[in-house]
Amino acid sequence: MHWQDREAWIWSYGVYTRYPFQGALYGLPPQMLEECLVGAIEARFGPLQEGTAGAAVRDAPHNFEEFIYSVWGADVARHFAIPYNRKLWAVPLNETETSWLGGRVQLPNLEEMIEGALSPAPKPMGPDARFGYPLRGGFQALMDGFLPLLQGELRHHAEVCAVSPRRHTVRLTDGSMYRYERLISTLALPKLVEALGEEAPPEVRAAARGLRHVSVRCVNLGIGREGLTDKHWIYYPEDTVFHRIFVQGNASPHCNPPGGFGLTGEISHSPQKLLPVEGDALIARCIEDCCRVGIIRDDDRIIAAHQLDLPVAYVVYDHARAASVDLIREWLLSHDIILAGRYAEWEYYNSDHAFLAGKRAAEAALTPAAAPVAARIA
Ligand SMILES: Cc1cc2nc3c(=O)[nH]c(=O)nc-3n(C[C@H](O)[C@H](O)[C@H](O)COP(=O)(O)OP(=O)(O)OC[C@H]3O[C@@H](n4cnc5c(N)ncnc54)[C@H](O)[C@@H]3O)c2cc1C
Repeated sequence: MHWQDREAWIWSYGVYTRYPFQGALYGLPPQMLEECLVGAIEARFGPLQEGTAGAAVRDAPHNFEEFIYSVWGADVARHFAIPYNRKLWAVPLNETETSWLGGRVQLPNLEEMIEGALSPAPKPMGPDARFGYPLRGGFQALMDGFLPLLQGELRHHAEVCAVSPRRHTVRLTDGSMYRYERLISTLALPKLVEALGEEAPPEVRAAARGLRHVSVRCVNLGIGREGLTDKHWIYYPEDTVFHRIFVQGNASPHCNPPGGFGLTGEISHSPQKLLPVEGDALIARCIEDCCRVGIIRDDDRIIAAHQLDLPVAYVVYDHARAASVDLIREWLLSHDIILAGRYAEWEYYNSDHAFLAGKRAAEAALTPAAAPVAARIA
């Protein structure tokens, strides 16, 4: 593994500031900086001046939008948190709740916030302040590491199309059938329920139909210039087509060919936020926006350009999600089906959580009788 201190940055108002925005305001225009600090103080303690509007939302927030205003203050909300999260989530923020936040989004500590406004580059914060990526072989190398430990058959390009809890069988699209005692599923939860067909009770099918997700189109670019940036990922709350660039070329020293550099523009989309254009036009728009924000230059050679759609990329934490997932999971567990991973459990997991989810599911499957309880995710 190649371990590095995270270089996560935000591009807004023509400058880079470190992520998280509220912890590293240094470098922003002074008036904006003052507004953000005052806003955060007011969100915590109430208005500084009688009769001013900057007061906290005093009730417990009912949704993610209210949460942003009440915890970070109106100005961090206005300058970063609202526009960025609207862009990423591609659904109205008041339709979502906050249980996914965990340690993922740092809550402000006023002392750190002031320190981050007065001096440049405070230390990276949060659970991924240091992160690892395989030195060679890309992310796939992590999975390949498990191959020698596998006992039994591993089949590639094997698509599950039907699952029968009654008969304890799985059917693949090529017609082959497998019997199971306990089944661990990594299929996206709505897909799994679809594969159960009429064997799933109507309430389980209805709950699965209500699960919402966001898609992401990844535009991968290979640029003919080395060392475009030393950053690892960059957030774009403003009007670029992408909400984030993952700087693939810096994930490990072996990620780039000599003379080249790779990066990925991530563009979220949903029925409520359609892609502005498709096909080559989307790639062209991405390149144009990369030039506009200065990550590449007009005269840079584009050696490779390719796009990949992740139809189910982010789980939407709307207000119905938790109860629906509980209902479906309980029914599946009572029929010896254990869910494992981000899309199966319908949770906002990062890859480290996904690995642990796999371990928990394997342990649950191997535990006699107690499996349904053991498979519950804390
Ligand atoms: C845009 C984006 C950026 C991300 N960035 C980061 C990051 O920077 N750091 C980080 O830690 N995490 C990141 N993540 C999250 C990370 O990618 C996921 O958490 C992780 O890949 C989830 O692993 P998983 O095993 O749960 O699901 P998956 O990797 O999706 O595995 C599910 C498996 O099930 C198989 N499958 C599905 N349907 C069928 C079927 N019908 N039949 C047979 N097989 C099937 C799939 O082929 C796949 O192999 C990001 C995710 C996205 C979308």
